[in-house]
Amino acid sequence: VGAGGLGSPALLYLAAAGVGHLGIAEPDRVELSNLQRQILFTTTEVGEPKASAARRRLTALNPEIEVTIHPVRAGEDNIDELISRYDLIIDATDGFDARYAIHDACFRARKPYIYGAVDRFEGRVGVFFHGEGPCCRCLFPSSSSIAQSCAEAGVLGVLPGMIGTLQATEALKIAAGFGEPLNGKVLVYDALSSNFATYAVQKNPRCPLCGVNPAVTAKRASLSARDLRQRLASAAALRVIDVRESDELESGSIPGSLNFPLSELESHIPKLDKGEEILLYCERGVRSARAAEAFKIAGFNQVRHLEGGYRAYRELQT
Ligand SMILES: [Zn+2]
Repeated sequence: VGAGGLGSPALLYLAAAGVGHLGIAEPDRVELSNLQRQILFTTTEVGEPKASAARRRLTALNPEIEVTIHPVRAGEDNIDELISRYDLIIDATDGFDARYAIHDACFRARKPYIYGAVDRFEGRVGVFFHGEGPCCRCLFPSSSSIAQSCAEAGVLGVLPGMIGTLQATEALKIAAGFGEPLNGKVLVYDALSSNFATYAVQKNPRCPLCGVNPAVTAKRASLSARDLRQRLASAAALRVIDVRESDELESGSIPGSLNFPLSELESHIPKLDKGEEILLYCERGVRSARAAEAFKIAGFNQVRHLEGGYRAYRELQT
């Protein structure tokens, strides 16, 4: 996630190593001021979307691999779906919100999360498997505990090169099963003193995510009409269920949706697969919230409902 300073070296080495399928989530365009650290790109690509420029460079380097691009900003609304297609996630972003969204989504999906961060002259890399061990929030419970982004604080250009390369090293170790990943540990590199130090992260029983009383709720329970439109345009499967009563359907419905009226919902729930990602909607978003609760009680945990209901969806279409 991110094809910037950390993503550039990580992607180049993973492509060169022959990792068969790489996904790149990156919404930005190449800027001249990026090039001191974002070595995937050249001056001729300034103004181009980074994701497509990155794919071109990586497939030129290794035509045998598949590179999928997601030119979107990773965030709470799309991260679960983005990571669902991949086995291992490298966090190469530099903003607080994206970091927490990616990390928490990996925790929920129990997928390896490779953390990397740089701040002026210091860089950090860590690996969290999200099993019994600690998570990143055990160390940094909230955003105030993480460094500023590169664009805000400035960074020595070579530093993300070092940290992104270390992230790729950890990814290759995990993918190919050699060596000992930095599991539950954070390596800190201080470029000014040329010092590397590794610290074990202690599992924090008061951690807001993996602690005994987690304060971070699993995931937003609803989706906006705008996010739904983007989500429907993507290839990943989403089961859309209309919980309005059948006499309400004259005003139209979301293409491809099933109609399971709320009054009969109990009889329909057992027909669905608990692993499916489900979106519920009604006319205004009130009944769908109740329906989502019924699904959760029945053991479904990939269920959300549409904010503002079909009305909001229809308004967006016109
Ligand atoms: Zn934790």
